Amino acid sequence: VKELVVLSGKGGTGKTSLLGALATLAGNKVLVDCDVDAANLYLIADPEIRESHTFIGGQKAEINQQLCAYCGECLDYCRFEAVVSVASDVPDREPRFEIDRLNCEGCGVCTYFCPENAINMKPAESGKWHVSDTRFGPLVHGQLGPGEGNSGKLVTVLRKKARDEAESLKCDLILVDGPPGIGCPAIATLTGAGYVLLVTEPSLSAFHDFKRVAQLVRHFKISAGLCVNKYDINKSISGKIEKNAEENGIDILGRLRYDVDFTRAQVLGRTIMEYSTGETANNIRLLWKKLQKRLQSVDETGMNVNIADIQGL
Ligand code: SF4
Ligand code: SF4
Repeated sequence: VKELVVLSGKGGTGKTSLLGALATLAGNKVLVDCDVDAANLYLIADPEIRESHTFIGGQKAEINQQLCAYCGECLDYCRFEAVVSVASDVPDREPRFEIDRLNCEGCGVCTYFCPENAINMKPAESGKWHVSDTRFGPLVHGQLGPGEGNSGKLVTVLRKKARDEAESLKCDLILVDGPPGIGCPAIATLTGAGYVLLVTEPSLSAFHDFKRVAQLVRHFKISAGLCVNKYDINKSISGKIEKNAEENGIDILGRLRYDVDFTRAQVLGRTIMEYSTGETANNIRLLWKKLQKRLQSVDETGMNVNIADIQGL
């Protein structure tokens, strides 16, 4: 099973719309939405949830009020201002202490210093994840709760489930919608990927973020290709992005012009391939052919196994 990861470095480049288009073209595959902070692939895929799970991202402190002696040590030691002092309802009684779950980072320092052993660390629900059926095939997706962390851990859970699903259904491809940025979720998405498609747009901020994500891909030595979306809105920056990609060993796989058909298709909950037979749809077909060749030329860890096959494309 090979994983094709679609990454952008920056949100709003049209990455998910393009991934949806590729999902329409790819045959036997499993989809994964690793953009767990702002999952949106489901908007196009219209999933029917088959199974749901709770994601336990870490632990949170909890004070046993029966054991607490109101000494305030936990308040002093917590560096995240997660211990709050609450005035007691009982007159002349010391204020009690409570944990603000949103601020608690689960470091456990308060449990170490509490003289009464009144604080316990409890597993904390940080989000949900699902396996759904869609018209493109199975989709593994999840969503962190507001303010919750450990998105990299949730990405790892999703990718593992997608792999299990692909193996049991005998799919040879996992199509991954990656998160923006170069942080923990992007790293968790990239490790072990077969090939990375970088999608960007010609703006200065997108170019800046593209350079960072290209460095990340190079760091992990994963083969990658570039598609500049909306290239015609600033051909000068498009050229600079492609030049930078070439300098970093990233293949130029295609360019897509600004096309309002993407938006029209989205409004109808469709991919551009299901909506249009225009120039952009044709260019995406060409892009998909090149990606198939690239995927054939790498092993499951992204290493080139037969570069001669892809020369001349
Ligand atoms: S350190 Fe322990 S005993 Fe002291 S206030 Fe906190 S929970 Fe209560
Ligand atoms: S676990 Fe860490 S962050 Fe949470 S309340 Fe205790 S000291 Fe603060």
